[in-house]
Amino acid sequence: MNEVYTGVKFDTIFVEKRRIKNKKANELIFWAKKFSDAGLMPSHSKGSYGNLSFKTRNGFIITKAGKRADELKIEDLVNVVDCDLNNKKVYCIGLFVPSSETFLHWMIYKERKNIKAIFHGHDKIVLENAEKLNLLITEKEQSYGTLELCYEVLKILGKSKYLVMRNHGFISLGESMDEAGMLAIEVHEKAKNFSLK
Ligand SMILES: [Zn+2]
Repeated sequence: MNEVYTGVKFDTIFVEKRRIKNKKANELIFWAKKFSDAGLMPSHSKGSYGNLSFKTRNGFIITKAGKRADELKIEDLVNVVDCDLNNKKVYCIGLFVPSSETFLHWMIYKERKNIKAIFHGHDKIVLENAEKLNLLITEKEQSYGTLELCYEVLKILGKSKYLVMRNHGFISLGESMDEAGMLAIEVHEKAKNFSLK
């Protein structure tokens, strides 16, 4: 989490430049607000740390890059429909550039077909207590938004639904947004209790 945010590390190609339409969009906005209130998506000068997505029929819908989680609106959500990892390109429907961790979400959805929601946040108390809590932690620290970070996560992904990216943040997975969201809050509460001991 020491790294300064300097924007996304890919090119965005808009297949369609318009506001997205999806019945579940409000659910994502609900969780962004909840995470923000719980301190799981702390703000920085260009937005908030962390990014949330849910799977759709044509890809996934993810929060835009550089936006405060507590001010998120439907137009800030981007529908990613394809990724070209080799050429670092993201194809999407929306009005804005998608989250810097778009490749990470893309790869996890490819790898874990039952996963319908991926929530990434920065939880200081969890990072500090990750080892004591016996959480899965990536071996090496990698720069945000890189393929190296994706591969580091894939190494430990397995079947688990919660993992920690070393010195960075958490990834909470669910077969629904509620599952991913509640899991992140649950681990956060556990870490809080632990740090009080
Ligand atoms: Zn992050």
